[in-house]
Amino acid sequence: MKERSVILKKNRDKPIRQRHHWIFSGAVQSLPDFEEGDILPVMSSDGEFLGSAYFNRKSAIIGRMLSFDRTPPLESVEHKLLDAIALRRNLVEPASNAQRLVNGEGDGLPGLVVDRYGDVLVIQIATLGMEKLKPVILGHLIRALSPRSIQEKSNLPTRREEGLPEFEGHLYGEKVESIEIQEHGLRFLVEIQGSQKTGFYLDLREMRKLVRSLAEGRRVLNCFCYTGGFSVAALAGGAASVDSVDSSESAISLARQNLSLNGFSEGENRLVVADVFEFLRREMPPYDFIILDPPAFAKKKTDIVPACRGYKDINRLALQKTKPQGLLLTLSCSHFVDESLFQQIVFQAAAEAGREVRIIQKHRLAYDHPINVYHPESEYLKGFLLYVQ
Ligand code: SAH
Repeated sequence: MKERSVILKKNRDKPIRQRHHWIFSGAVQSLPDFEEGDILPVMSSDGEFLGSAYFNRKSAIIGRMLSFDRTPPLESVEHKLLDAIALRRNLVEPASNAQRLVNGEGDGLPGLVVDRYGDVLVIQIATLGMEKLKPVILGHLIRALSPRSIQEKSNLPTRREEGLPEFEGHLYGEKVESIEIQEHGLRFLVEIQGSQKTGFYLDLREMRKLVRSLAEGRRVLNCFCYTGGFSVAALAGGAASVDSVDSSESAISLARQNLSLNGFSEGENRLVVADVFEFLRREMPPYDFIILDPPAFAKKKTDIVPACRGYKDINRLALQKTKPQGLLLTLSCSHFVDESLFQQIVFQAAAEAGREVRIIQKHRLAYDHPINVYHPESEYLKGFLLYVQ
């Protein structure tokens, strides 16, 4: 068995002993012969068995652990998958039929995301090791959930590092292009192919609830609105009006459909195709409540400095457009900008805008996006609800 094992360097096995999923290439003492994507046993330098991982020499994260004990790795994958489904059944409110079923390392399944939109599943695969496990994963999903359709949306630029092309396509059952979902009594049309993420920002569910609870009577501006999730939530909460801004015409068109699906009309509620940086510089009366949920400005570590500038600029501009005693919900999904850095950015934006700003609430995770305490890197979203004097 030893010949077919990966042996870690002395003093470099601590993260694995602590159930972190990633093995960096620098931590490996020796590799056996293997094909990229194969699952191999992982041993310490003094011959202790640590678990099993899939490996790919092309990636700086050369291995990702599938089990941390002697459970056969495929059995472990099945347990983790069923466990992930059980967590959602136990915890996620039945008020929504759209959930993240598998959240990568957060559910002990590195490289895999599975989202459920009603009876349609959308999977996203980030690594070659998980790609090779795809038939096994599909088998378990079909047995456990009897979905009408399974689609794949693996259009992740990071797949290149794994030697994988981006891929979107149909895997099982009916071909489905779009589907209507329900969340807390609201209806949303989700387009699967060609969309962002797997179609809908499920990770913002708790934030949509928060926006809905605060919107009554307020004039709201939803920046980077995508398909209008926050806009519909604010209108359902009794907002006086909601203006929605996004640079993508197709996103705005879907936002328009989502408004009308819920009985709200354009007119009062403007839908604007524009660059938010430009829009916020226009002359306009201030808003009671602004939502800022931009795309990740820092996609890699080296982007941090320009990303911080971008976050500071839009936050300053938004603060300048917030009425006294108004609210600003500001979010960042850049993995490389952590919460304390984001708070500093908000502090600088507030100072430059000359506004007194207090944090009223912080981002709340949606229940279906668990974070593995042994592997906290899966956390990426942070946000503050600000009270702007
Ligand atoms: N808040 C959204 C998700 C935001 S996704 C939701 O609740 O669903 C980020 C969105 O920002 C995308 O729709 C993208 O088209 C848009 N976007 C990216 N850069 C932009 C810019 N400079 N100005 C306006 N919109 C932009």
